[in-house]
Amino acid sequence: MTDTQTEQPRADPTVFEDCGTERAYWRHAKRRERADKPCRDAHAKAAQKRRTETATPRVLPPCGTSAAYARHVYHREPVDLACRTARTRDNRILDEARRLAAAIFPESEA
Ligand SMILES: [Zn+2]
Ligand SMILES: [Zn+2]
Repeated sequence: MTDTQTEQPRADPTVFEDCGTERAYWRHAKRRERADKPCRDAHAKAAQKRRTETATPRVLPPCGTSAAYARHVYHREPVDLACRTARTRDNRILDEARRLAAAIFPESEA
């Protein structure tokens, strides 16, 4: 029998396979270990990500709305067909509303 128990040599017992993830960071913290650099970096990055996500809870308007059309224009992005169609449709509704308003309140027409 050549099957001898091979002891896996570990350079650092506090380093795990998933070091460099936030989960590993919290495991270090729970064990009152000093987290290694990859774990600290992962934790800092996750904390930063959480901060920016909670700081800007705005949701991007989906394509196919005039809001998304405005976003494309604002970011100088190419406007896709769905957004162009929505914009045309909304413009028509706006024009119609303006015409109606002008008919009811002629003096408000600028
Ligand atoms: Zn670690
Ligand atoms: Zn779009």
